[in-house]
Amino acid sequence: MSEDRRMLPYGRQTIEDDDVAAVAAALRSDFLTTGPLVEEFENHFAGAAGAAHAVACNSGTAALHLAAMGLRLGPGDTAIVPTLTFLASANAIRMTGAEVFFADVDPDSGLMTDASFEEAISLADKYRREIRAAVPVHLNGRICDMRSLANVAKKSNIALIEDACHALGVPSAGANEYSDFACFSTHPVKMIATGEGGVVTTKDADAAARMRKLRSHGMVHAEGELLSREEGFENGAKRPWYYEMHEIGWNYRMPDVLCALGISQLKKLPRFLKRREEIARLYDRLLAPLAPALKPAPRGNDPHGLHLYAVLIDFEKLGTTRAKFMDALRAEGIGTQVHYLPVHRQPYYRDRYGERVLPGADAYYSRCLSIPLYPSMQDADVERVVETLSNLISKAQ
Ligand SMILES: *Cc1c(COP(=O)(O)O)cnc(C)c1O
Repeated sequence: MSEDRRMLPYGRQTIEDDDVAAVAAALRSDFLTTGPLVEEFENHFAGAAGAAHAVACNSGTAALHLAAMGLRLGPGDTAIVPTLTFLASANAIRMTGAEVFFADVDPDSGLMTDASFEEAISLADKYRREIRAAVPVHLNGRICDMRSLANVAKKSNIALIEDACHALGVPSAGANEYSDFACFSTHPVKMIATGEGGVVTTKDADAAARMRKLRSHGMVHAEGELLSREEGFENGAKRPWYYEMHEIGWNYRMPDVLCALGISQLKKLPRFLKRREEIARLYDRLLAPLAPALKPAPRGNDPHGLHLYAVLIDFEKLGTTRAKFMDALRAEGIGTQVHYLPVHRQPYYRDRYGERVLPGADAYYSRCLSIPLYPSMQDADVERVVETLSNLISKAQ
């Protein structure tokens, strides 16, 4: 492929020389895994997200699991999860032993609304499930109407965990105004990249301390927290090697080396967001003539994270299939992806909960396609994507 026909993925990281230098410096330091950069990254992250406390861990999935553990979800509990999301939003609930009840989403935005949330609550009630939590997902970077969802949640005493993996940098995501926890990912396609990585934000200092314990095996070192005087102390002083475990934990630690990258990347978040916005506006303008065959997923009026640029296409009406359409784009060097296959359709969840009919999710899923969007894209790349889409659509019509 010639230089101007190089592959444009649907998303990718932006790593610059100073990011590389920050990682190299961390590699030469005394700490590869937990060291001083973990707390420094957490402090920077809390600042960027407007959060009281930020707990770093090694993936967005781990962040969701820690948040679910922060709520002490477990067997016998149920959490509502919109089906139009990545597997991890639901799996993190199951990892605690709690059950998932899937909610439908709006057919155009793909978001859980107060209506689909209420519907899920009343349906779950029919199955006599005790709903303790819900996981609103800010799909593509569009923030759910958290105020409305929180009103609904409050009436039924339901806690909220925001899956904000698409929404780092949006002022209302991460501040926990309406939620107990918000979870982020620093996977390379997300807003900042550390390879693997995740963060939970919360206003609850005790929950933050507990999640820090759970991310490292549930180990307790502090003298005041130890239960056994007899094992742990000698002549009134703590034995130097002694630690305790009071509940099961994991190894969800984020290494110092990756925290170094995270700190460096966070400094660029405003610039990345600004570029994402410029690209989205250029797409908006250039794609407008392709309506009604192709329409951008509605983005609403509130600040948007622009993690993904999703378009909605009625492939059947165009006389094609999404697979053929994606293949034709790929042949032109344009990568696209489907976000997401509704999770309730996964064999694991079908086996566990039986068939569900969620028409809003089906309507969104059948039409959605994420086209390339990442900060290092050039305007000419955007023009090339639109030209290729335009040619494919006029050929199909
Ligand atoms: C990326 C993502 C996750 C999981 O994050 P990882 O860091 O890949 O574990 C969870 N939910 C959503 C919506 C995501 O986009």
